[in-house]
Amino acid sequence: MMPIYKIKYLSLVLFFLSTLEGLSQQSIFSLINKKDTVNIYQEMLNDQSDDLMENHPAEDIYNNIWTSLKINPYKIPIDSLPDSVRIDCSNFVVPTHGYVTSQFGPRRYRYHYGIDLKVEVGDTILAAFSGKVRIIDYEGRGYGNYIVIRHDNGLETVYAHLSVVLVSLNQTVKAGELIAFGGNTGHSTGPHLHFETRYIGNAINPANIINFNTGLVYEPTYLLTKKKSFYYQREVKAVQVARYYSVRKGDNLGQIAARNGTSVNALCRMNGIKTKTKLQLGQRLRIR
Ligand SMILES: [Zn+2]
Repeated sequence: MMPIYKIKYLSLVLFFLSTLEGLSQQSIFSLINKKDTVNIYQEMLNDQSDDLMENHPAEDIYNNIWTSLKINPYKIPIDSLPDSVRIDCSNFVVPTHGYVTSQFGPRRYRYHYGIDLKVEVGDTILAAFSGKVRIIDYEGRGYGNYIVIRHDNGLETVYAHLSVVLVSLNQTVKAGELIAFGGNTGHSTGPHLHFETRYIGNAINPANIINFNTGLVYEPTYLLTKKKSFYYQREVKAVQVARYYSVRKGDNLGQIAARNGTSVNALCRMNGIKTKTKLQLGQRLRIR
């Protein structure tokens, strides 16, 4: 679709030129003839096709979706992924040499879709593979300052809790290029890099691909398989056992939600209540 402002602009030009036909031949504007109109139109088309032709890495497997609004805008369930894909990891550069402080996997309240690596504030963070910056954002209660890069090899990587971001949106980066300084922003209890590897939105344990002791990949080509690479869905089901809480004096939904790592909306949904429902002492609320 041609953007509306361009259509408006084009119709203005056409209208303007059509009114000129009746004007004096001496008018400087008469120099603009219909040929120019065609040229202007052609230019707009070229401009438009430039927009369409702008290359984003691995566009085919990402169904031409390129947005900075969400980490996983693709909503491709693991079941619909191909059974196996070969991912070229030969140009990998470890983002930081910090040791692992927290592994990928289930945590008490929220699944950990990445791996945590120790850094000091200001340590350099490097792009893991070549690609293009898809998201730069800040999330106060989560990732803090973070970057998402789409790579030529089909993976996307996430770098979170950064102190300073050194790249811009849609910037092309090379593997090993300096992209940020490590930090402690967002939900973080000490400076670290939260690092994720994803394939069409679905997280893979980075430790399956990367040996964080050596800072090298295990294999130059990672064989991603639906069964082995995405076991977390099964684990999520296993950790989501229902848990309950008995309402105490002075409790309200907001406090209960905050103390139990959930939200008021989730509590309302799980318990079939409204945000304004009065809680009774001793009432059993499902919190998970
Ligand atoms: Zn983390």
